[in-house]
Amino acid sequence: MKAHDGMYIGGRWRPAAGTGTIAVVDPADEQVIAHVPAGSPEDVDAAVRAARAAFPGWAATAPGDRAARIAALRDVLAARREEIARTVTAELGAPPRLAETVHAGLPVVVAGSYAELAASYAFEETVGNSTVLHEPVGVVGAITPWNYPLHQIVAKVAPALAAGCTVVLKPAEDTPLTARLFAEAAHESGLPDGVFNLVTGLGPVAGQALAEHPGVDLVSFTGSTAVGRRIGATAGGAVKRVALELGGKSANVILPGADLSRAVHAGIANVMSNSGQTCSAWTRMLVHRDRYEEAVALAAEAVATYVPGDRLGPLVSARQRDRVRGYIEQGVAEGARLVAGGPESPCATGYYVSPTVFADVTPEMTIAQEEIFGPVVSLMRYEDEDDALRIANGTVYGLAGAVWGDHEEAVAFARRMDTGQVDINGGRFNPLAPFGGYKQSGVGRELGTHGLAEYLHTKSLQF
Ligand code: NAD
Repeated sequence: MKAHDGMYIGGRWRPAAGTGTIAVVDPADEQVIAHVPAGSPEDVDAAVRAARAAFPGWAATAPGDRAARIAALRDVLAARREEIARTVTAELGAPPRLAETVHAGLPVVVAGSYAELAASYAFEETVGNSTVLHEPVGVVGAITPWNYPLHQIVAKVAPALAAGCTVVLKPAEDTPLTARLFAEAAHESGLPDGVFNLVTGLGPVAGQALAEHPGVDLVSFTGSTAVGRRIGATAGGAVKRVALELGGKSANVILPGADLSRAVHAGIANVMSNSGQTCSAWTRMLVHRDRYEEAVALAAEAVATYVPGDRLGPLVSARQRDRVRGYIEQGVAEGARLVAGGPESPCATGYYVSPTVFADVTPEMTIAQEEIFGPVVSLMRYEDEDDALRIANGTVYGLAGAVWGDHEEAVAFARRMDTGQVDINGGRFNPLAPFGGYKQSGVGRELGTHGLAEYLHTKSLQF
């Protein structure tokens, strides 16, 4: 057993209370690559106690000193970038280039943004005869998914630390090794003992114990809507703060004035990235009926460049692969036209799914409504802009989206969309822009100042 094979609690690695373990599998070759302890409610309780004990000291630390610690954390993450990328490839299956640029690279940028925000944020402001104080909420329970294992952790932990909160993290069971690397980085960066704590374990055991723990003041969850709904209900019952970043079924709306080839190619690339395991992926491509067949041909051409095992990685687990294949079978059964891909496995080993394009998808079909979380795109036909808007807004989700066309028309269309983010004509990802959902895509925002505000209470003093 390696020194850090336990839980990271109170500034040191210690053995788990129980003996259960979770096997970590490389989804590209289906081999077990490691085991991590399956944390119990006892481990969670120890971690929450450590975080509570550390809270008053960390909350009282000057923002500039917190900023320095977060900057140190960013530097460790940057120095260990290659090791992080290799680990994400091993346990998630992300192709090496994606692992380096996005999975290992983005968290460095986000951590850096919170090092700056911690130093510059107005934790006090004057409103008339009041001084308004923005104070840390307390102990944060962070529950994260596997699809962007390090980004999801940093997008919660960095703003929480910047605010003056302390944290207990329960990462996804499929990707605990990246979370352990993060805990090592937190330790190396010199965070005081107990400010950051890690408990690996199963969602319904360790995750639930964390969400229900009375010593947790705020639960920040990213994952499925089904689990998010339960966590929201638990937090509501205890009148505690909650932030939920859930699923999506985002629309990529190609208006008649768009550069069709560019819009279709970018749309396919957006969904194929990370094998479609992105909550904000533009999984519904909406095209005007006059250019629809042209778009279908372009989509088939674009998707052919995503070769499984090369540019396209496997899905994270056998369970996810089976789930996605089930959706593809359902799309065929409900009458959608298969243009590329299909339910058959493209590789003998590994949890691969063929990159799949469906045409003639109509709004009531399951594949037009539910989050598939795989490399599957649905092309939908619209009659006019009002029809496109009705289709775009016609799901329970509202996380992201895209609009292509004449700039003014595209912006006007985006303003009418019920969704948290819209990229206009290929506008690129902004790590400082608020990220989060309308409707059942969630509650609260991550990233930038909006993400920091989630971890703050306000208090008004009158003079
Ligand atoms: P999940 O919601 O089951 O898991 C997310 C996290 O919640 C994990 O850490 C898990 O251990 C934990 N968890 C599970 N049950 C819990 C409970 N009862 N109490 C507390 N924590 C619990 O997601 P999943 O099963 O890994 O993926 C299923 C689907 O969720 C995907 O197909 C996709 O649609 C969606 N998903 C969305 C995102 C996103 O970024 N929005 C990320 C991952 C998965």
